[in-house]
Amino acid sequence: MRQALISDIHGNLEGLQAVLTDIASQSVDQIVCLGDIVGYGPNPCECLELVMKKSTLTIMGNHDQAALFDPEGFNPVALRAIYWTRDRLDAGAPSTVNRRWDYLSELPKLHHQDKFMFVHGSPRDPTNEYVFPETIYDQNKMENIFGRVNQYCFQGHTHMPGVFTPDLEFIKPSSCDHVFSLGKEKLMVNVGSVGQPRDEDNRACYLIIDHDARKIHFRRVEYDFETTCKKIYAISELDNMLGDRLRTGR
Ligand code: ZN
Repeated sequence: MRQALISDIHGNLEGLQAVLTDIASQSVDQIVCLGDIVGYGPNPCECLELVMKKSTLTIMGNHDQAALFDPEGFNPVALRAIYWTRDRLDAGAPSTVNRRWDYLSELPKLHHQDKFMFVHGSPRDPTNEYVFPETIYDQNKMENIFGRVNQYCFQGHTHMPGVFTPDLEFIKPSSCDHVFSLGKEKLMVNVGSVGQPRDEDNRACYLIIDHDARKIHFRRVEYDFETTCKKIYAISELDNMLGDRLRTGR
């Protein structure tokens, strides 16, 4: 079985469409979404619609949760974007609006599938906790978090793809030729971001788990970010920096 893991789409329709096209060429059986379908980007409803149609399992992200409830710990830029997003999700025919909110409100915060665990943030706080590449230097935090990993944990949230090992290494996709073998040791794997990459590569990012070969493949996909940028610049509630950062991938 081959599973595609997508995360942190953030209302970026061009990024999501490009990734779905790439997935269609990769003999993938199932798509799993690790959350943050909305927030920051100009097409929350269209992205949600696509995820509802294509994803077999979707985990709740902190921005999805913030659209539903009161945002926690959001900076002013993220806050303005999430209030605008909420208005977009509320617009349209009542049946469509209800379907969106029902879907978002029923998303699980974590999911176990055999030895695989899927979260948005971390195994300790599935929705909100960040595990950044530099978190490897916080030995207590990492050991506590790894203590809650059964075997393999897949996550998003930081928009920084890579593999965390129990001996506290962070391995970037470019350092392992974008392929990593699933062995006996525990691993935490960040799948990166479809709609707002922050690892200085402006291509959309996602990952494929090849369960038979026991390997993961990090994928990068070029997309038309200029179109997404222009849409963001045209919406006053979305700060221009949300467009600028798509160009630089930061
Ligand atoms: Zn995110």
